[in-house]
Amino acid sequence: MKLYAAWTFLSYIIRHKYFVGRELIRMGLYRQAITHDLSKLLPNEFIPNVIFTDAKNNKAKDNKTKKKKIKSEKMKEIRSSFLLSRLIHCHRNRHHYVYWRMANGVVRTFPMPEKYIKEMVADWLGQQRAITGKSMYVEETIRKAKEKDKSIKMHWESKLIFNQLMDELAERAGNNL
Ligand SMILES: [Zn+2]
Repeated sequence: MKLYAAWTFLSYIIRHKYFVGRELIRMGLYRQAITHDLSKLLPNEFIPNVIFTDAKNNKAKDNKTKKKKIKSEKMKEIRSSFLLSRLIHCHRNRHHYVYWRMANGVVRTFPMPEKYIKEMVADWLGQQRAITGKSMYVEETIRKAKEKDKSIKMHWESKLIFNQLMDELAERAGNNL
């Protein structure tokens, strides 16, 4: 069944939590090192992620054998449930800046407590660590953050703290830590 996909997603969560946890411990945020992204294990986040992972695995297989069995309609449905689970995740977890935004006609942003801004940065560092590996992940995180800077719509006070944290990261990268 989808056991393989469930395992793939679970091992991704463990790996992600490990890398993010290291950064959070470094920042002295021990409680968040434990709680980070735990909601991904709840059914309405876990199941859509597993189904999406499974569909991606099958698609890769079908492309290899040139079968392309997955109907795009079905894939659209799977993708939409996956995106909904992302939205639910962002509104459950305060380390996502989307949590601090209200889009009700006008987009209103609220100040994000510093510990969650730090968790957000740790989240990005952890993601890059898993993709890039040990040597360049801090630099890569800074580069990616600069790339999407304009689309990061945070409260101005939070953005100041965020920029300060990015400067500290640049310093860390410069020191090759
Ligand atoms: Zn998260």
